[in-house]
Amino acid sequence: MQSQGRLYIVGIGPGGREHRSRRAEEAIREAEYIIGNKSYLELIEDLTKGKRIIKSRMGEEIDRAKRALVLSEEHKVAIVSGGDPNVYGMAGIVLEVAEKSDRDFDIEIIPGITSANAVASVLGAPLNNDFAVISLSDLLTPWEVIERNLSAVAEAEFVIVLYNPRSRSRVGNFKRAIEIIRRFRADDTPVGIVKNCTREGERRIITNLRSVLTYDDEVDMHTTVIIGNRESRIWKDWIITPRGYHRKYRI
Ligand code: SAH
Repeated sequence: MQSQGRLYIVGIGPGGREHRSRRAEEAIREAEYIIGNKSYLELIEDLTKGKRIIKSRMGEEIDRAKRALVLSEEHKVAIVSGGDPNVYGMAGIVLEVAEKSDRDFDIEIIPGITSANAVASVLGAPLNNDFAVISLSDLLTPWEVIERNLSAVAEAEFVIVLYNPRSRSRVGNFKRAIEIIRRFRADDTPVGIVKNCTREGERRIITNLRSVLTYDDEVDMHTTVIIGNRESRIWKDWIITPRGYHRKYRI
């Protein structure tokens, strides 16, 4: 007999309910078990009444993935990721654990709005050309690799999005990242900082590379930072990265 089990790996977006996809909500409603860390579970409380909730902490992702896969052989299970599950989220580790077990699972991955997109909309149009996303967390990636990637993208023509700019154990990483980027970009390069995007306590700051470190204390683990490319500019209270229309047309 075919099992009724299924595993949904659900991106729940940056926080606000209005930014969740319909498919994400359907999957959570359908699931009998919901697995995730505390802060994400709180964001979907409106959908999870009466369900079996399994809370897991940061650093327990491998166990979380194993448990979700085993349960999904018999049950409908949703494992939730903030933002998108493909952006420093749960999709990778769940598939890696599944690959290792070499068993068959019924898995659906549901995309979500990642912080880069949510934050960009709050800041205006900072991403409207090639961009690179870098996590400053050196928990799973050696810091030397992060520095090398920062230098490479700062030297090239990418807008840079910094995820995980700070955690309690990594207070200096944001400052070091900004120092590296300043070797390649002008002092007046626009920088946007958004904290708790689409959530309670949302805060946005528009500044530049010269002054960004005066906001160092504002940057926490719920913050995403966008650094413009060489053409990005500030207009009124927005950041604009030109797509290139001005090279071909009169605007
Ligand atoms: N999968 C998530 C990212 C997980 S890494 C996504 O797609 O968005 C965690 C980092 O995401 C945080 O350190 C922060 O940089 C960013 N982040 C998550 N939620 C955020 C929010 N509401 N506002 C601003 N940044 C956020």
